[in-house]
Amino acid sequence: MEPIITSTLCVGGIGLASAAALAVAEKYLSVKEDPRINKVTEMLPGANCGGCGYAGCADYARKIVNDNVDLTLCAPGGSECAAAIAAFLGRAAGAVEKRVAIVLCCGDDTEAVRRAAYNGITDCAAAQATAGGDKGCTYGCLGYGSCARVCPVDAIAIVNGLAKVDKTRCIACGKCVDVCPRKLIKLVPAAAEIHVLCSSKDKGPAVKKVCGTGCIGCRICTKFADDGAIVMDGFLAVVDYTKRLTNEEVVAKCPGHCIRSDGAGNKETAAAS
Ligand code: SF4
Ligand code: SF4
Repeated sequence: MEPIITSTLCVGGIGLASAAALAVAEKYLSVKEDPRINKVTEMLPGANCGGCGYAGCADYARKIVNDNVDLTLCAPGGSECAAAIAAFLGRAAGAVEKRVAIVLCCGDDTEAVRRAAYNGITDCAAAQATAGGDKGCTYGCLGYGSCARVCPVDAIAIVNGLAKVDKTRCIACGKCVDVCPRKLIKLVPAAAEIHVLCSSKDKGPAVKKVCGTGCIGCRICTKFADDGAIVMDGFLAVVDYTKRLTNEEVVAKCPGHCIRSDGAGNKETAAAS
């Protein structure tokens, strides 16, 4: 009996000593979190999308308060949210440029050929890993919707084998950008209305073989674009989104039919893209 009492007293004593040590550590060694972090977290939209580059809204709030990081990194919150946080913290806000995602491909299943039948799981990375994907164009959208599945606001739909972004819903979190195995999705200024919806770097004849709406590298658009707003990357025309491209003529002049406009030109496709 005596050994049992002794060991019980020992274990109890150790427990009490540990509890006392923890209480002392809590009192004297714990680091108190700045109460402003909670307030800033509440001011952020709570989307927890990670588009700011941090693990979530609370993590971004912590960095804002503790490390003075830029207030303009929250796309869903926009300028209004940045201004409110700036006023609360007594800092300068800066403007948040509204951006949206765009899929740089317009080769749906009526325009782009499939070179094989893919019967694997519905996932773009898996399709890509299966002999480089089933699409004839090795740059184009595979259409298995990995981007749509990660979008937190259901802004992406797969229409006829092609991903399309609803600009009115997109909060520019960038999740789709990260997941696309073909690196086809880009965040661009929401105000931009004319886009080259192709990513193929192949020469014109090779592009034409696999897609009816691809850039053939003819350079015609660069002559009609405003002041260098379209530049060539090898055989591919690319919009320079730091410039303002407004000349709708580029849409009609493109023999590859891959320049689309949210305005007059190809309204339906561009608005969805
Ligand atoms: S479309 Fe892309 S960037 Fe826009 S909200 Fe969805 S995942 Fe985020
Ligand atoms: S844009 Fe990329 S992730 Fe989305 S369906 Fe096309 S290939 Fe897949």
